Amino acid sequence: MSNEKLSIQVKDKEFIPYLSEETILARVKNIAVQLSEDFKDKNPVFIAVLNGSFMFAADLMKQLHINSEITFVKLASYIGTQSSGKVLTLLGLDTNVKDRHVIIIEDIIDTGFTLKKFLPVIKANEPKSISICSLLIKPESLQVDIKADYIGFEIPNRFVVGYGLDYDGYGRNLKSIYQLK
Ligand code: 5GP
Ligand code: MG
Repeated sequence: MSNEKLSIQVKDKEFIPYLSEETILARVKNIAVQLSEDFKDKNPVFIAVLNGSFMFAADLMKQLHINSEITFVKLASYIGTQSSGKVLTLLGLDTNVKDRHVIIIEDIIDTGFTLKKFLPVIKANEPKSISICSLLIKPESLQVDIKADYIGFEIPNRFVVGYGLDYDGYGRNLKSIYQLK
């Protein structure tokens, strides 16, 4: 079957299959194994950035076999398929992370502005360490000096939906990731 036939419509746009559910879950499991090794006996606190990372965070946590906590913050920068450049904190950090190992869970690093703005907020809470774990990164689109410690997939600079990522609020429930046609 050609990809043409499998293309899907989300609102007014057409998307084609890009990363299958199996591919994503295999990679998520890999990252979980790595994190379980690196943070064994360190009792880390995961901070998942809503909304986009909810599915990744859930699958990642299910594969972890170490003591850990998870909490959530809600940041927003996107309007439609374009980064607005401005980052809004819609739900802030409510967990004390002083002297804790913090692992930030992101769905995707695009320009990097979201993390650039959020990192000082975490640092101000004096954690023992901060690591960044992002399912996706668009290296061509990065505009700030941010280094992710755990990355699922490096992808080209094209808009994607599915597996938690939305187009104008829709498409988050898709089990795999689709790319704008
Ligand atoms: P950044 O601040 O790094 O430019 O963007 C980070 C946020 O923008 C991500 O957490 C995500 O919510 C959104 N974003 C960036 N690229 C895409 C994309 O290709 N698709 C979707 N759905 N969201 C994206
Ligand atoms: Mg996001």
